[in-house]
Amino acid sequence: MTQSPGQGQALDNLLTESRTFPPSDEFAAQANAKPELYEEAKADREAFWAKQAERLHWDTKWTQVLDWSNAPFAKWFVGGKLNVAYNCVDRHVESGHGDQVAIHWEGEPGDSRAITYGELQREVSKAANALASLGIGAEDRVAIYMPMVPEAIFAMLACARLGAMHSVVFGGFSAEALRTRIEDSSCKLVITTDGQYRRGNPAPLKPAVDEAVAGAPSVEKVLVVKRTNTEVAWTDKDVWWHELVDAQSDQHTPEAFDSEHPLFILYTSGTTGKPKGILHTSGGYLTQASYTHHNVFDLKPDTDVYWCTADIGWVTGHSYIVYGPLSNRVTQVVYEGTPNTPHEGRHWEIVQKYGVSIYYTAPTLIRTFMKWGADIPAKYDLSSLRVLGSVGEPINPEAWIWYRENVGGGKTPIVDTWWQTETGAIMISPLPGVVSTKPGSAQRPLPGIGAKVVNDEGVEVPHGGGGYLVLDEPWPSMLRGIWGDEERYRDTYWSRFAEQGFYFAGDGAKYDDDGDIWLLGRVDDVMNVSGHRISTTEVESALVSHPTVAEAAVVGASDATTGQGIVAFVILRGGAGSDAGGAEAIKALRDHVAKEIGPIAKPRQIMVVPELPKTRSGKIMRRLLRDVAENRAVGDVTTLADSSVMDLISAGLQSGK
Ligand code: ATP
Ligand code: MG
Repeated sequence: MTQSPGQGQALDNLLTESRTFPPSDEFAAQANAKPELYEEAKADREAFWAKQAERLHWDTKWTQVLDWSNAPFAKWFVGGKLNVAYNCVDRHVESGHGDQVAIHWEGEPGDSRAITYGELQREVSKAANALASLGIGAEDRVAIYMPMVPEAIFAMLACARLGAMHSVVFGGFSAEALRTRIEDSSCKLVITTDGQYRRGNPAPLKPAVDEAVAGAPSVEKVLVVKRTNTEVAWTDKDVWWHELVDAQSDQHTPEAFDSEHPLFILYTSGTTGKPKGILHTSGGYLTQASYTHHNVFDLKPDTDVYWCTADIGWVTGHSYIVYGPLSNRVTQVVYEGTPNTPHEGRHWEIVQKYGVSIYYTAPTLIRTFMKWGADIPAKYDLSSLRVLGSVGEPINPEAWIWYRENVGGGKTPIVDTWWQTETGAIMISPLPGVVSTKPGSAQRPLPGIGAKVVNDEGVEVPHGGGGYLVLDEPWPSMLRGIWGDEERYRDTYWSRFAEQGFYFAGDGAKYDDDGDIWLLGRVDDVMNVSGHRISTTEVESALVSHPTVAEAAVVGASDATTGQGIVAFVILRGGAGSDAGGAEAIKALRDHVAKEIGPIAKPRQIMVVPELPKTRSGKIMRRLLRDVAENRAVGDVTTLADSSVMDLISAGLQSGK
């Protein structure tokens, strides 16, 4: 299994997985995706994408599908014109679905609201009129710093309607993080709320905006939604949403914009470093968001109830709460709060209440559910679920199996979707009903997408080999650059394999013997142990496959004899027993890894910790753990969800655990 180093392969391939789950005949028969899609796309890629673009309403049809002459800056559906918000809202009302619920909104304190497409059209129109009255027009930048309230979605669509660009900043970020993002793209308007619910309590939000705006002269106005009735300081830039928006006409005529008209800027999570302001445009982005949402989630607009648990502050919220689903006339749940407020069964209670049929979440949450215990989902009726999805990190095979068994009733297909803020939409994923799913593997590029695993020289590795994930063909929803920094765009993504013209994703990957793709974590996190290049993901998955472990993070720490030694941090599952963290148990865990994937991957040290450092989007920040493992001062923690986690971990280390 283990390759010796020096064979031109960038990563060792240690883990093998033999379980596969073919789709049931019943699912396959009704699936949106058909096996022919792959051949169709292969036969003529541009014609394939042109066909997908027909899913949308175009005011003017394009004259050219793709213009790649100014690579790496793509133009898709050249000459075409459309309005993105019209495609997500108005056309569904015009086709007779004004009474269909678009959003079942569930507030954290238990309040709820059902918003039909007819209402959505009126709300978005009012918001667009309000924004226009504040002087917002095409290409102006608007920062949206809000919790998951319906107005956040109205605001995004109002921007799209006017051709203004939104820059959504996660409501959990600090004033300083908001200020730097406002400044980077010179936002004219900030839309926010007075406060937000956080684990059952209202917490102020507007003070952070006041602080940010004080240092951001580009901001002319601040539009404030009243959510928590929290007392707020008021400045002459501030305007209440309920005073301005509610007074507007609910009629607004959308204008068609060029296919390449900018739609939004979104800053990446910052897992690996300083966030990048990723720029997306209209026609190609919406085409791929819509196409992938339809095929990967098998959405049936008349019968499904869809729920994506992401925050709109992340790209998943943009593409799979707002643009993809609404363009497909979804009925969806949007939930404001945290998964354990007021209790650890809150998600399952919501699934039961609305009869959710498609559920899309992140591995970090699945592992948290594992930690809380399988008895919690078991208390609810989850039989409505028929497709489950995962995004954000590699999903460990054991977490995948747990998800299928305990949430999916042992029957639902799971789509493990690989993509990035930069890719705009899903790139690699099994198609449910077509592909036999495999726990832990995102499997294959979607029809129309080109992805490969290559070695250091840019040569594709053979089946069974590991290397770097690259995208070898431009795709409709690809980023059009980093805001204000053309050089960083070329450097970050296009310089590593410039000769071949590949987009370098920054992720390690491998092919298994069937040619399926496995994502192996960030290239920056790869460990080098005695000349073996070992991925963090494989060792973590081996740890999570032990019955006592819910979550694991591993890093390479410098080691006098082996170059690097593997240091693991683990969180135990609920019910793991009080001796699960003892010396005997730790030895058993180390042996378990050696047995699962080979002695070379046996961790030098394993520490039981109560939490792991994660970004606000739930991704493990391994660079901070590396600082701990190498006894350095911990680096930049500004995008960390909870900075006290690092103190907890360091304290545990010093007490010799
Ligand atoms: P930054 O680029 O600022 O460090 P980030 O990469 O964390 O931030 P995102 O764009 O939100 O910001 O995350 C994309 C990354 O998430 C991918 O490059 C990959 O590492 C990881 N990822 C997403 N989905 C999957 C998946 N299904 N399997 C494995 N990894 C995934
Ligand atoms: Mg990234």
